[in-house]
Amino acid sequence: RNILDITSVRNDFPILNEVVNGKQLVYFDNAATTQKPKQVLDALAAYYEHSNANIHRGIHHLAEKATASFEDTRRRVQKFINAPLAEQVIFTYGTTDSINLVAQTYGRRFLKEGDEIIISTMEHHSNIVPWQMICEEKGCILKVIPINEDGEILMDEYEKLLTERTKIVSVVHVSNALGTINPVKEIIQKAHAAGAVTFVDGAQSSSHLTIDVQDMDCDFYSMSLHKIYGPTGMGVLYGKKEILDAMPPYRGGGEMIKEVTFAKTTYNELPYKFEAGTPNIADVVAARFALDYVDALGKENIAAHEDDLLKYASEALLDIEGLRIIGNAKDKVSVISFVIDGIHHQDIGVLLDQQGIAVRTGHHCTQPLMQRFGITGTTRASFAVYNTIEEVDRFIAGLQKVKRMLS
Ligand code: PMP
Repeated sequence: RNILDITSVRNDFPILNEVVNGKQLVYFDNAATTQKPKQVLDALAAYYEHSNANIHRGIHHLAEKATASFEDTRRRVQKFINAPLAEQVIFTYGTTDSINLVAQTYGRRFLKEGDEIIISTMEHHSNIVPWQMICEEKGCILKVIPINEDGEILMDEYEKLLTERTKIVSVVHVSNALGTINPVKEIIQKAHAAGAVTFVDGAQSSSHLTIDVQDMDCDFYSMSLHKIYGPTGMGVLYGKKEILDAMPPYRGGGEMIKEVTFAKTTYNELPYKFEAGTPNIADVVAARFALDYVDALGKENIAAHEDDLLKYASEALLDIEGLRIIGNAKDKVSVISFVIDGIHHQDIGVLLDQQGIAVRTGHHCTQPLMQRFGITGTTRASFAVYNTIEEVDRFIAGLQKVKRMLS
């Protein structure tokens, strides 16, 4: 079933040849950020060598070339998430920035005292704190959908939280800490029936699942391109046009204006209304090559390979005495969080690093989720398309060694 040639995929990622503490790197921290293929690195260099200029305002050759490449990526993202129009794709600094944008513009304009915002127990801090900030400012109430022991949203509890006071429902599509895939379509339907708008945090879903914002019917969707083989420092906010049009601008400055006088400023059209100042042009331009790369391999093929790794690793981990996987959702992506009795996650991380194996340890920016499970953190291995069964074997052997050293 595995039709990808992983050896050839690995050859596209120069960093995988790094030697860490005398061992070839095993990179299992993909949920934090993925590595970048040559195609993206080459595009970055080519941009600076042949096209670098500021966009939109220039009439000279390079400015036009840079602008065209920048706008190419917008159309590429539009296609990638099946947005109706390119202008519904707004470039941001990442998911954190996208959520803050909506909280600070939609929230400021449309929320009133006593209104309610619903999130879930498994949210990343970036889908908690911006809502808390606007709740504090506006006198709104934040409500939290509980989850079960496997790390799945309790849908009947969610329904009980929905009232005519619910104005926003914002949930993570795929949990970065547990790997859970949430039933966002159903969550959105129920939110809409209650008259609320919906935000889907797609930071983790866009790399593993096929995204169709029209089918999902979300009002907002966000991506972090650095988690999908693209450069750091750029992301996307998608929104429904009539809602984006009704929202006031976010940051003020150049580019987002139509006309400025000292008496009054009028604002630019979508998407520029939300893109003040010089954006991260080079990384936006190069991000197109990341999406091309993913589509060339095929999302289903990537998902099938990652799923093989997930199944293999989940089973192999069960052989380690005292190990417990946190997050056993029926629907999950290739993220495995676990704890081992009597061993601190940080010690596991340090001792794996000594063997050249990169994992993430700690709360994964989901402290309330850790509190739900009564733990302070986990060790997390998260797989991407270039990872292999041999690497999982090294990881399992590495964990066995950690256990021997510490018990
Ligand atoms: N939400 C989720 C589920 C995430 O995994 C992350 C990144 N760890 C974020 C939001 C924040 O994304 P960024 O740091 O790219 O802004």
